[in-house]
Amino acid sequence: MRGLAPDGGLFMPERIPVIPGAFFNNIADMGIRDIAFVVADRMLGNDIDSADIRRIVNETFSFDIPLVELGGGIYSLELFHGPTLAFKDVGARFLARVISNFSDSRRGVVKVLVATSGDSGGAVAHGFKDVKGVEVYVLYPHGVLSQLQRSQLCMPGSNIHPIEVLGTFDDCQRMAREALLDPELRSSAALTSANSINICRLLPQMFYFFHAYAQLLQHGGAGEGAVMSIPAGNLGNLTAGLLSWRMGLPVKRFVVANNANSVTADYLNHGELRPRRAVRTVARAMDVGHPTNMDRIIDMFDGERGALSHIVTGYSVPDTEIIGEMRRTHADHGYLIDPHGATGLAALRSDIKPGEKGIFLATAHPSKFPVAVTEATGVRFEPVKINPAHRMATPRISASADALKKELRR
Ligand SMILES: *Cc1c(COP(=O)(O)O)cnc(C)c1O
Repeated sequence: MRGLAPDGGLFMPERIPVIPGAFFNNIADMGIRDIAFVVADRMLGNDIDSADIRRIVNETFSFDIPLVELGGGIYSLELFHGPTLAFKDVGARFLARVISNFSDSRRGVVKVLVATSGDSGGAVAHGFKDVKGVEVYVLYPHGVLSQLQRSQLCMPGSNIHPIEVLGTFDDCQRMAREALLDPELRSSAALTSANSINICRLLPQMFYFFHAYAQLLQHGGAGEGAVMSIPAGNLGNLTAGLLSWRMGLPVKRFVVANNANSVTADYLNHGELRPRRAVRTVARAMDVGHPTNMDRIIDMFDGERGALSHIVTGYSVPDTEIIGEMRRTHADHGYLIDPHGATGLAALRSDIKPGEKGIFLATAHPSKFPVAVTEATGVRFEPVKINPAHRMATPRISASADALKKELRR
């Protein structure tokens, strides 16, 4: 509910519970909702009633997350069948339901802040729409969103309030963080974050790592687990994967797939953590120069990079290889992937050894990135029709803490 710790740091679980081994003997027969319930109850059972956890995970997973075999021991974990066609639906839907479970209309509304460069905003807007007692403020940089992405934020008369910021995505993230720590704002309303700085957005992302393992066993895969390749931006998915592994999930190793923004891969390979300005790539949801969840990962390994790079290997994939992977996968397997999934697949192909099984996270539906897909494969998508009601004008503010404060007080 706080989003950020009072000292500005990120919350982590005090201890990571381990799931008894017997669970994995039966996991192949379990569906995602039952798996999610077991894992969530281990993590949150002291704070949320089991019946509420059951309801929250059942509502979160209103769609399937299939594991699709491409051949040669390589599988795609399709995380994009939710309402906004990206994996962020999982975290947003779970977080919205947990917040609504704790919010109490007698104590006033909860204000939720989220900074977006595209996908988070739509998923959060969709996940929180019409949730009682919650008002959502979506900060997005001027000139970056597509028509479709913008229309996903504009829901006139709802509890979703898009705000255009005359600045960059990093400005939006900074402004949201500053607001969360502002004593005056905090005293007037409960204020929290729906970005992956909020641990509650990461917890439900663990469930699909377990579900992937269950499906791998169904496909005849080995109990030792797969090489898990993760297209990475702010490292929410990697954090969730590592937490799952710590809880006992068998994973052979993790592969981090950066695009040309190679901060994490460079840290793993050379030991130097050097945040820098992001450059624009075809996999733009991963154009992150300063990955926020790195602090959590370093904490999990007590700052020992050697221990971390033992289980995680890093790659940086340039745009030409991302497009090449999309083309090859379509030509060889008749399978369309989006540029983010393709980044994961390209890194996985570089890393996997004969006899191993590999799973990459397909984080967005290919139709969300039609220009890149058409460039790589020649396949075209029908343009999505946008409801004119969803083209509303949004407030536009300067990239300053004061301007945001004014908007939040309205
Ligand atoms: C957000 C996003 C990512 C990056 O995920 P992180 O958990 O921030 O590392 C990758 N692919 C897509 C499509 C995304 O929207």
